[in-house]
Amino acid sequence: MYMVVILLMLVIAWKFYEFFYYRSKKFIDVKNRIQTYISDCNELNEHIEELKGMHLGINQLNYGQANFQDTSRYKYRRRELLNQVYAPNVYNCSRTVCSNAKNQPFKYVCKYFNIKTDEDNLSKFEEMLNNFEAAEQGKVALKREKQNIVDSIAKDIPFLIRTLGKNKLERKLGFTEVDFSTMYFPRYIFKYISSGGNASMQCDVVMDIANLNNFVTYLSEVVKFKKSAAGQRALMTSALRREILQRDGYTCKKCGASIQNEPNLLLEIDHIVPISKGGLTAKSNLQTLCWRCNRRKGSKME
Ligand SMILES: [Zn+2]
Repeated sequence: MYMVVILLMLVIAWKFYEFFYYRSKKFIDVKNRIQTYISDCNELNEHIEELKGMHLGINQLNYGQANFQDTSRYKYRRRELLNQVYAPNVYNCSRTVCSNAKNQPFKYVCKYFNIKTDEDNLSKFEEMLNNFEAAEQGKVALKREKQNIVDSIAKDIPFLIRTLGKNKLERKLGFTEVDFSTMYFPRYIFKYISSGGNASMQCDVVMDIANLNNFVTYLSEVVKFKKSAAGQRALMTSALRREILQRDGYTCKKCGASIQNEPNLLLEIDHIVPISKGGLTAKSNLQTLCWRCNRRKGSKME
């Protein structure tokens, strides 16, 4: 009984301590001092979310909208389902189609999810890969940068606040929450359920970075290119991204920022003449830009 009372008093004391600490001048001074770094992190976080959202519109058909209400009792499921707004592609099919899809996933995804194997879709998937890979690298960069910032003020933050309430500290400093899940990768699902409901089978094709690389290569092999584009065009794969970054010395071609000065800088690959304006994916039309310059360029064009 005494133990419970003591524990309760400790918790209350801790809450009071936190409450007054986060209102103290000392904390507010520290927060103000690093404000620009925090805003930069939050802007990168926003940018990553934009990169992730790019793939909407790949599917040519509009299936209409439906209201969706999740009535499950557990929170973790709700979150997973919420994230599935990116991946609503389920195809209910026969047992044969399901097992064939397992053996030849790309062929069946194109066929049953109405993805035309043409130059247009190839470019879209290449862009998706380019954006998603930047998003994945951005998450790593952001995580490290955030840690650096928190470490840099460690000596000004009381030990208990730093260790017991780390998440709260980050929130109070003004960091927005980073979503590290990979649920945003498009997911194509072939689902078979027998009429009795006893037998079922499911084949998931997840377009993660590795699969997108393979899919882009697959599409490039089945697409019948128009004469003009064939031959002079490279494929925007992870390998090409690495090659361009290396060629440009991991330095932004616009502002000169580089990973020598900013080890956690997110660098992206940009089409100098955009594809929408007739630009090709060719080494001469590709350049390295830091995410800030790339973001500015993107917003100027709209
Ligand atoms: Zn730049």
